[in-house]
Amino acid sequence: MTHNEDFKDEIGDNHIATNAQTPLRDNAFELSDDEKIASIKADVENILHTLGMDLTDDSIKGTPNRVAKMFVKEIFGGLNPAKKPGSSTFENKYKYGEMLVEKNITVYSTCEHHLLPIVGRAHVAYISNGTVVGLSKMNRIVDYFAKRPQVQERLTIQIVQELKRVLNTEDVACVIDAKHLCVNSRGIRDIESSTVTSEFGGKFKDENVRREFLDYIKLDTQF
Ligand SMILES: [Zn+2]
Repeated sequence: MTHNEDFKDEIGDNHIATNAQTPLRDNAFELSDDEKIASIKADVENILHTLGMDLTDDSIKGTPNRVAKMFVKEIFGGLNPAKKPGSSTFENKYKYGEMLVEKNITVYSTCEHHLLPIVGRAHVAYISNGTVVGLSKMNRIVDYFAKRPQVQERLTIQIVQELKRVLNTEDVACVIDAKHLCVNSRGIRDIESSTVTSEFGGKFKDENVRREFLDYIKLDTQF
């Protein structure tokens, strides 16, 4: 089975309870960022050394520290709840009942099974109950949850759950279309395939509302 075939089976009403949370330990933030960087630096040194690389070579001397910083501060920086985007919303009664769509939000994430990139686009929509968020806030929420070791299905659900919380409505939807380098660059090397995941809350469970959203983003995928 490809990822594409899998997703229809995996996305279901029961999916949320088991998969929505990133599996973090209770003591995940006992170490400071600097302590994590020092520890991961030693780990990366060990990996490269074990592979036979000469770590005194100028080209890779700085790699362990660079990778450790990148893990903690950048590509996995969204593990830390302290970095969650603020949830400022504003009232706009004129938007009441209106569907707001932010499409083509760039997604850079990391597959938690292979630690290889997931690259794609997220399309997010909500039906306003009078509360709206700035469009850049939607991008920041996507980026925050993407910066974790991820599973695309979970990322999709986490974005929807956060927007439901911020906007105080169930009427939120997200579709993500992304390439997984673990599929595209190794194994079966299927460079064309991408994976589509979706999560439809509240009114988006209605076929007409869902269709309106999918028409906006012009995705032909059948759900
Ligand atoms: Zn993978």
